[in-house]
Parts: sequence; C-alpha cells; structure tokens
Amino acid sequence: MSSFRKRALDEFSSHKAERFYLENAPVSQYFGQNVFDVEKMRRYLSAEAFDAVQLAVNDGVKIDRGVANQIASGMKAWAIERGATHYTHWFHPLTDATAEKHEAFVDPSKNGGVFENFKGEALVQQEPDASSFPNGGLRNTFEARGYTAWDPTSPAFIIDQTLCIPSVFVAYTGESLDMKTPHLKSLQQLDKAATDLAKMFDTKTSRVNVMLGIEQEYFVVDEALFRARPDLMLCNRTLIGHTSAKDQQLEDHYFGAIPSRVMCFMKDFETEAFKLGVVLKTRHNEVAPNQFEFAPYFAEANLSVDHNLMMMILMRKIAKKHKLKVIFHEKPFAGINGSGKHCNWSMFTNQGVNLLSPGKTPRNNIQFLSFFVSVIKAVYEHHHLLMASAASLNNSYRLGGSEAPPAIMSVFCGTTLTELLDSIENMLITDDSVENKAIKLDIVGKIPEILPDNTDRNRTSPFAFTGNRFEFRAVGSSVNVASSMFVLNAAVAQQLSKFKSLVEKEISEGLTKDEALLKIIRQFIIESKAIRFEGNGYSEEWHKEAARRGLKGISDLPEAFRAYLDPKTIKLMEETEVLSVREVEARYEVLNEIFIKKLQIEARVIGDLTVNHIIPTAIKFQNSLIQNVLGLKELFSEEEYKVMSERQLVSIRKISGYIQQLREDFHALVQARKEANVIASYPERAESYSANVLPYISKIRITVDKLEMLVDDELWPLPKYRELLFLR
Ligand code: ADP
Ligand code: MG
Repeated sequence: MSSFRKRALDEFSSHKAERFYLENAPVSQYFGQNVFDVEKMRRYLSAEAFDAVQLAVNDGVKIDRGVANQIASGMKAWAIERGATHYTHWFHPLTDATAEKHEAFVDPSKNGGVFENFKGEALVQQEPDASSFPNGGLRNTFEARGYTAWDPTSPAFIIDQTLCIPSVFVAYTGESLDMKTPHLKSLQQLDKAATDLAKMFDTKTSRVNVMLGIEQEYFVVDEALFRARPDLMLCNRTLIGHTSAKDQQLEDHYFGAIPSRVMCFMKDFETEAFKLGVVLKTRHNEVAPNQFEFAPYFAEANLSVDHNLMMMILMRKIAKKHKLKVIFHEKPFAGINGSGKHCNWSMFTNQGVNLLSPGKTPRNNIQFLSFFVSVIKAVYEHHHLLMASAASLNNSYRLGGSEAPPAIMSVFCGTTLTELLDSIENMLITDDSVENKAIKLDIVGKIPEILPDNTDRNRTSPFAFTGNRFEFRAVGSSVNVASSMFVLNAAVAQQLSKFKSLVEKEISEGLTKDEALLKIIRQFIIESKAIRFEGNGYSEEWHKEAARRGLKGISDLPEAFRAYLDPKTIKLMEETEVLSVREVEARYEVLNEIFIKKLQIEARVIGDLTVNHIIPTAIKFQNSLIQNVLGLKELFSEEEYKVMSERQLVSIRKISGYIQQLREDFHALVQARKEANVIASYPERAESYSANVLPYISKIRITVDKLEMLVDDELWPLPKYRELLFLR
C-alpha cells in the first residue's frame, strides 16, 4: 500500500478515506469501476460468452440460453466482488422515472445455508408484473403480463450494491410499455436508412450510430427549506411565491464561481459518475440563481439516455448527503429561467465520419448536404409532432419565456449555411445548357470553402445547427429524452430513405450521381424552406410569420397531444415500425392521463396552501392591523387617529379583498375539478382540466403573491424565493 493511501486510511473513516483517495487520484484510475464494460467482460467472461455479447451489441445477434448462463455467471462474479448483494432489471416505464425491483443473489441451499445464484434466464428476462405503471390500456386483460428483457447494448452497472441490468419493458403481446423500446427501434431504423445512403459515398460504411450529448440543467436548494414548502415537496415547483427583488437581472450567477456547498455536492456526484463510466465533461452555473448544468461527453444515443437517467438517480441520492435537494422540474420558480435538457444530436458512421460535419472536399460536402437537408426536411414534416413530443405540463410553464425556446418549431442553420442553401435553391438545375452545368460544378466546387460558423448562437431557436450537430433545445429537464429522440430518429430515417430512393430514380433516368444528389438536395431545400428561421423566435412577428408558413405551435396541451393521432404520425410510426397504431394510441392515452394527474395534484396543493396556510396567515396579520387601529383610536385624538389610520385601513381593506378573492377562486377551482373528474375519457378530461382548472392555478397565485408583499415577513408560513435561491 502506498504511503499516500495509508495516510488516507489512517486519517479518515472508510467512506471518507475512499473520498480522500478518489479526490486525489486521477479519474482514469477509478473510471468505470462500477460498470461491467468491455474490459471487465474480457476478464470475467469466457471467449465464447464475450464474443456473444459483442455480436449482440454490434450486430444485434441474439444470445442463446447456454451462453446467457455463462454471461450471468461472469457478471455475478464481478458484481459480488464489487460488493453487490442484489440484482435488478432496470427499465424506463412511461413515467419519466426509472424502475427497479431488486432480487437478492442468495438462494437457500440444501444444507440450510444460502448460496449466491444468478442464472442466464434471470439475466435475460424477468416478469416483475409492474402492472401499476401507466400503459394506456395495453394491459387491460388479466393475462397481459409485463416482461423486462435485457438490453445488452447498454452495460450493466452497480448502484447501491445492486447490479442494475438495463432492460426493455414490454407486454406479453410484445407491445412496448416503456421509453427504451421505441428508442432502440428508431435507432435501428435510422442506422439502416443512414447506412444505405452513406454507402453511396463510401462503400465501406456498414453502420451508422446516432450520437447524443445531453446537457442537463437543474436547480439545487437547501433540503430543509424544500421540505418546508408543500408545493416543492409534492409538485417539484413553487405554485406560489413572489419573485425576489434580485434574481438573475445582473447575470452575476451565470458562469460565476460555483457556490462551495454545491461544489462539494458536484465533486461527490462526479466521482460516482466517473465510477459509472460517464465522462462528465462540463459543469457550470446557469443563468438563474441556484441553477446549474452538467454535460457529459457525447455517446451512442441509447447509452447516453441511460447515462442521463443514471445521473438523475445519483444526483438525488448524493444531494441528500449534502442536505440539498436537486430539482429537475422544467420551471420550479416563476419569473426566472427554467431548465431544459438540450439534446445534441448527430450521426457517425463505423468509419468514424460525422455525417453532419461539413467536410474538406466537394464529395464530402455533397454527403454532408444530403444528410443535413434530410434532417431539416424531417423536422419540417413532423414539426408539430416533435414539439408535442417535448410538451408536458411542466414544460408548458417553461417554453416561450426566460431564454427557453418558443413552442413553435423552427430550424436555425446559421448565416453561412443559409447562404449556401439559398444559393443551391437558386441554381437552375433543370436546364442542361453548358453555362448552367458550369454553375452546378461551381457550386459543388465552392462548398468546401464555406465552413459553418461554429460560434453561431441563437438561443431562441428550438432546433439549431451548431457546426457538426443539431441541438434540440425544447426538451424538458425532467424527462427521459428518448420520448423525443425516437420521434426525431424515426422522422430522419423516413426522410433519408425517401432521399435515397429519389436520387436512385434520377440516376435511373440518366442523371449522374452528383447531379441526382444535387437535384434532390435542392428539392428538399425548397420543400422544407418554411421551417428555416434565423431571426428572433420570441418576437411577435415570428409567431405571425410562423402561422403564415403553416407551422403549428403548441398552445394547449391536450390539443398538442393529438399530434400523435395525426395520420402523418401513424404513417411514420408504422412505416418505420417504431410503434404500432395501438402503441401510439396507448401513449396518447398515457400523456393525457399524466397531464390530468399532475394538474390535479397541483390544484390540490394550491388549494391546501391557500386555505390552510395563506388565508389563516392573512387573517392573523389583518387582525394585528385591526388591533393596531383600535389602539390608535383609543390613544390619539380624532384628527391624529384619522391621519395615522388612513393607510392601515387601506391595507385592511386590501387584505379583505384578497382573502375574499382567494375564497372565491378556491371554490371555483374545486368545482372545476369536480366537473372534470367525472368525465370518463382521459383526452376529454384533460381538455376540461386544461380549460377550466389550469387558469385558476395561475389566478390564485397572483393573489397570493400580492399578499406575500403585504403580510408581516415573520408571519409568512413558507420560505420565500430569496431564501430558497441563494446558496453559498
Ligand atoms: P453548449 O455550448 O451548447 O452549452 P456544452 O459543452 O454544454 O455546449 O454541451 C455540448 C454537448 O454536445 C456535449 O455533451 C458534447 O459532448 C456534445 N457534442 C459535441 N459534439 C457532438 C456531436 N457531434 N454529436 C453529438 N453531441 C455532440
Ligand atoms: Mg451547455
């Protein structure tokens, strides 16, 4: 043992010693120690088992039962060595949370003791029942069991001494009950379509992977203060609360020095993340006070999503040790920035080529443009669905305000690429005169000189090209991004296939490959032009302009969810085999169900806050004013009293008015809920909640926030924004 390590062990308790050691050891020394990655597989698996996993990961080859036993046994040996006592299939139901049902490794042995047991069948498939997760009616019959099945493309890992095996969750009919299944299917489809097209440029291409870099924004608050707020406790957002006199106006938090309490939390969290094989790359303060962000280095999309969900689990756990609470809600505090989960998205071939990176030669750039315009076309064709895929009650409080992108889809390309697309659009491609041929070639020749400007930034765009990838910024901070990514992947797969078949048709009709490619590139540019927008997405003009262009934004959620039932969506999902009609309908049902339940909880909580916290406090304060006025009357002359009591009486009246208003609105809110609750169909109930319940939640808030400014600070029953928002 090195003297360094020995000192650490002498000086600290075992947990602290590990931290001391890890903090001072290079990350590369403990990176990935809690993941059953390729290196561990090589050590713990037989050659046959190792090859089987690699084939499953790289080529989707099914693993047979015999080999599965060998894999399970290697995994068990490794996990037990790392101190694991339990294993679980770790899956992603339609709730945005992750799910786990632990099983102990131990089984009773014949002689009365126990032995550690983990068979191939337990690794490959389990039946956790898990019938209480939302399923949109897919499991209405008694035999509709739910199964989890191992996803070998995402390595198993250990959290809390439990071996977690990433899994899909499906009904016994094969219908998906989770977020992972459609995401995996969409990745396969995109791989197929993109590989087919990429082969036109490089015959050695045999695989295209989607790469995803997820930037996670979040808030951190003191745990005790969090617990003192029923709204934060139960809804993860403040339903009431006046803004702090100072919050983000001075922009002094953004990129500032990270508060030391948060820094301690981040270090602990990062250490655990590194052990889980996640390359956390970036950390910084975000714009709002107490708002932060981390971004790992981008990775294959399925893995990247799993990592993001693992990080959310870790952060919650580790924050607890620091008496902090992490808030992933999209808009925990009114009036300041909300949080998103920016999805940086690109496609890489097995040759290591980023298909969205403009290249150095004309050939590469025709390739780049083929993929680039296909993505833009995909976003155009399914713009409403893509926005709907990011729409949720939480996110509806965020989108369109305080730096969040608006709820209308548009694509930002940057000046250089916009000019290039425009110049291609203006080419006279149908004319075969010598002169125009020259223009064509000239255009091809020009492309390599035009490198996109990496520094181009347009924060108001929901879908921006940022040099070598697209960044989808509308996605909310609390969700599993697979819910948006499978839509994007499916849409792009569809357009790539279409692009390729159109090009082939042109070639069969006599055009050269380059001519055919350019012609279809131009066609896609023209057809999807309406989605491109370089200006300010917040402006009134853009909203009008977007409507003129036929772009459909999101204003009402139940209406937005209907995008899933649009024949265009059904066609997309069926064509790409990402979801069946029944699965789409089930998801639509679940979206409405979750929307209703969240709104119902918010309505109940604000009702409780109003009646049991705010009104009694207002009355108490009002009584003290009344007491004061009566005292003044007793002590002073009529004239003096008049002057002294004038403002007091105004306040007393004001408070009375607010209390009266709150009582009325509370009553109306309860009525609206009651009326909505008897509506049997989820979509219709959601409409009623949206139209009749939602408005009262914001109405009540306005009144309560006015009272907060009137009532004695000492009496106010809830921690205020200024107390919640400034960790040091
Ligand atoms: P920003 O300046 O947008 O805040 P960040 O550095 O916070 O950027 O995050 C950018 C994210 O994009 C990181 O996760 C990074 O790894 C990822 N990224 C970079 N290049 C690509 C790419 N080609 N494809 C996908 N993601 C990428
Ligand atoms: Mg960032």
